[in-house]
Amino acid sequence: MLKIEHLKKRYKTGPWVLKDISFEVPDGEIVGLIGPSGAGKSTMIRCVNRLIDPSEGNIQLDGVNLSNLSSSKVREQRRHIGMIFQEYALVERLSVMENVLSGRLGYLPFWRSFLRRYPEKDIDNAFEYLDRVGLIDHANKRADELSGGQRQRVGIARALAQDPRLLLVDEPTASLDPKTSRQIMRLIQSICREKSLSAIINIHDVPLAMQFVDRIIGLQGGEVVFDGKPDELTEDV
Ligand code: ADP
Ligand code: ADP
Repeated sequence: MLKIEHLKKRYKTGPWVLKDISFEVPDGEIVGLIGPSGAGKSTMIRCVNRLIDPSEGNIQLDGVNLSNLSSSKVREQRRHIGMIFQEYALVERLSVMENVLSGRLGYLPFWRSFLRRYPEKDIDNAFEYLDRVGLIDHANKRADELSGGQRQRVGIARALAQDPRLLLVDEPTASLDPKTSRQIMRLIQSICREKSLSAIINIHDVPLAMQFVDRIIGLQGGEVVFDGKPDELTEDV
């Protein structure tokens, strides 16, 4: 379970861009984070994965406080958080398989990928995740040979290879066509259901969010202006 308490953030001496945010995400719940540009959605996600330091407040994942860890501990905790990105963030010249392995092993030095000396168990797991996202036949292709939807599925498999306790997903469909977007959201949803995994999805496409998330949190000017089920969302929020 993710627990955010009185989270505040300002960049240097600028204005507060997150103003006292508190909410909990139980295991298995998919939260869609919506709101206009500048509302603080990316800042929120970057605080949770500790790419940036919160100014005040607590962030707890399964009882571990993420907000005041040393940098080595941050790295350790970040292994439990799977990230999925808008532009996929794959290593284009590496194979699909190597990209998935990098989720578990970190980015590997070139010689290591050249020698292909990976632990057998990790390779077995990577095949399992590739199978889950429907890409087992593409394992040896280079990432740059794939379509956008296929690349995003590699991104999902790579996040799963971390065996995460939480998924943080930043605009996963912003570079995809509507049909592929629905397929990707459906895949994320079914994986979260199977693994009882919670997710926070930063998503600007509100109708798409309403179709696939359990709960919507609306941010505006650094404050929560809506928190409820998708069907409770009205035009004026
Ligand atoms: P959203 O993701 O909802 O578009 P952001 O979290 O990116 O919102 O931005 C929230 C506010 O914080 C904006 O006013 C933005 O200009 C500001 N901001 C974001 N990143 C930085 C930064 N690195 N330094 C200073 N201000 C920033
Ligand atoms: P998004 O809309 O996806 O949140 P932005 O365009 O707000 O993306 O931000 C892109 C990058 O620019 C981020 O790394 C963010 O930290 C940085 N950034 C955004 N606003 C500011 C700002 N006011 N000052 C400095 N950096 C900023």
